[in-house]
Amino acid sequence: MKFTLRLKLILLTTTLVVTTQFATGFFITRHVERTMTQEYHRQMLPLAINLAHVCTNAMIGKDLLSLRNLLRVAMNQENVSQAMILDKDGKVMMHNRLTEVGKLHTNERIRNALQKDSPGISEYYQDEKGREKVDIFVPVKVSGTKFGTIILTCSHNHIIVQINNLKLHILTILLGGILISIICAIQLAAYLTKPLQHLTMVAGEITTGSFPEEKLQITGNDEIATLTDSFNKMSQQLKKMVYHDTLTGAYNRQMFQQRIAQELAHSRRHNQPLALLMIDVDHFKKINDTFGHLVGDQVLKEISDLLRATVRTDDYVARFGGEEFVVISPNTSPETALILAERIRTTVAAHPFTINATESRRLTISIGVARLVRTIMTVDDLIRFADNALYTAKEQGRNMVCQADDEQPF
Ligand code: GH3
Ligand code: MG
Ligand code: MG
Repeated sequence: MKFTLRLKLILLTTTLVVTTQFATGFFITRHVERTMTQEYHRQMLPLAINLAHVCTNAMIGKDLLSLRNLLRVAMNQENVSQAMILDKDGKVMMHNRLTEVGKLHTNERIRNALQKDSPGISEYYQDEKGREKVDIFVPVKVSGTKFGTIILTCSHNHIIVQINNLKLHILTILLGGILISIICAIQLAAYLTKPLQHLTMVAGEITTGSFPEEKLQITGNDEIATLTDSFNKMSQQLKKMVYHDTLTGAYNRQMFQQRIAQELAHSRRHNQPLALLMIDVDHFKKINDTFGHLVGDQVLKEISDLLRATVRTDDYVARFGGEEFVVISPNTSPETALILAERIRTTVAAHPFTINATESRRLTISIGVARLVRTIMTVDDLIRFADNALYTAKEQGRNMVCQADDEQPF
């Protein structure tokens, strides 16, 4: 399985939420548990102290009947499961179960309680049936002399039941929260990664040379929107660089080759005419030699602009190389192609090319026109026909349009 960004986001968010929710739940239940037991003991300890107080006289006088009655009263209290009075040696003076009377308690918990000089509460412990218990012990003293200890054993179970109920409620809420969080995490991850996946896909296509037809849609105003915007600009720029000639802005040779191949196939398939114009600037070398290469560059750019402004929207202008341009004219009859070529020639010839701020020069071009005929099998054949026609135009004195003699084999 691929550890994708989406999966990472879902796992991270879910882990964070689950950990926080369980930690919160744990601390809440711990706190509630403590508060409830503290409150419980706060109520029970005064009861035991009160009992010790009223038992004192009965213990001094060894009035077992009174002690028994007093323990009965204590046993009536909710959650008191055992009540006993021990003398200072740990021997049971009175017990809510009479059979226990006279027994000697030696276990450590009781021994600890007997040693205490002030009232207190033992640690929690479990009885033999596994129930939570706690002992509340109160020494019975008169003028500093200890007569014994009253021990009330309180059952802790009702609190545990309540706390378990609470835990169940909290757990249900937590599980609901976790479920909602997982759904939110999936949505969030999709929201964040969908545009990224789209960007990755388009970037992958660009690496194979295929640029998107339209800009990627920008939604919102966040970092992803900024990234998409930058990506669109980068893709446009890259497309320009890949498809276009950097000096003149016309399509480059590579794009021309692709396009002419497509147009040739399309024209064949649909039995439509196709024209190719090969254009060469006359005596261009002179411009370079006379005014320098930078002026030459500027002239080439102006020629390219003129060509693009003169052709129809369906036509395709590319720089073939040096001072040579081509125009692909789809679905164009030979007659129309000649008219187009002538229009281009006259437009260029009439244009004053900028030399510097004050000077301009006239230039001419020669054009070779080739049409798609049965003898043309490949793109190279078509280019060769146009090139031959251009050569003828040059030979016959330049500044003219010549049509390829396509009846002649090469
Ligand atoms: P012809 O009428 O026979 O076509 O003559 P020409 O001078 O135009 O042809 P030639 O092939 O002798 O010279 C073409 C010149 O174009 C030579 C080369 O330096 C120039 N050239 C080619 N590419 C560029 C370019 O990108 N910038 C500039 N400034 N000059 C270029
Ligand atoms: Mg040339
Ligand atoms: Mg030339």
